[in-house]
Amino acid sequence: MALSITETCINCAACEPECPNQAIYEPGMEWSMAEGTSLEGTVTLMNGEEVDADEMQEPLSDDFYFIVPDKCTECKGFHDEEQCLAFCPVPECIIVHPEHDETEDALLERQTFLHEA
Ligand code: SF4
Ligand code: SF4
Repeated sequence: MALSITETCINCAACEPECPNQAIYEPGMEWSMAEGTSLEGTVTLMNGEEVDADEMQEPLSDDFYFIVPDKCTECKGFHDEEQCLAFCPVPECIIVHPEHDETEDALLERQTFLHEA
């Protein structure tokens, strides 16, 4: 399951440096699939979508820190627990993304996709 940051976020920035996939960005910041991963050039995401990994994308939130679902592996392959959850000081601020309920196998597959391309 990819995780998602809710509007209870206080923009403290504690989570951002802890993500092993660089899936967390500050409000209003452009992001790319290539940052923090080994992806480059045209890649096909696990949902079949073709994207330019190096292209900068529009921020997912201008108000709160946000998590890019296609880069979140729930920390599988790196840590035993989700680092953003572990470091966030606000209870229940970070939740399971309602549209990204994924199996452990799918998350491990994403981790391989992101870092061993
Ligand atoms: S669960 Fe892990 S991979 Fe996903 S956003 Fe949080 S720190 Fe990053
Ligand atoms: S640690 Fe929690 S409150 Fe702080 S920026 Fe991240 S999601 Fe927001």
